[in-house]
Amino acid sequence: MKTSQIRTAKRKTWQAVSRFIRTRDPLCVTCLMAGKQTPSTEAGHYKHTSDKGNAQLGGNEVWYDARNLNGQCGTCNRWNSGELDLYGLYLEKTYGFGICQELNKLYNTPKKWTLEMLADVRAAYERRTAILQRNRSTNEIEHEILLDILQ
Ligand SMILES: [Zn+2]
Repeated sequence: MKTSQIRTAKRKTWQAVSRFIRTRDPLCVTCLMAGKQTPSTEAGHYKHTSDKGNAQLGGNEVWYDARNLNGQCGTCNRWNSGELDLYGLYLEKTYGFGICQELNKLYNTPKKWTLEMLADVRAAYERRTAILQRNRSTNEIEHEILLDILQ
């Protein structure tokens, strides 16, 4: 298998996943936890999977888990290292107590991805994005409710 094939497959899969996350989360989730409404421009990781850009297919169970990826602004994601304390609070509010431990466990569970699996992940996220775009307001409403609760 050529390394360029793997790089291309990973890039295309990441683009589909990132598009879904930014569509699902129109606002930066960590800014939300601080009571601010900032548009999300990036899909930020809770557990960082920094080897996405390389040509390896080895990895772990959390790679394309949509719970580990949430909309963030560039300030939170890049300049403030993900704002992981606020990120953890958002995950617990959204998925319940124990989610951080579960994502940690998945992060520590090795998984050998294949090109076929990446293609399946990509197709699944493209479908999910299309469904979300038809029901665009759902998560915007959820974010507004969360903001009301926090204020
Ligand atoms: Zn932010």
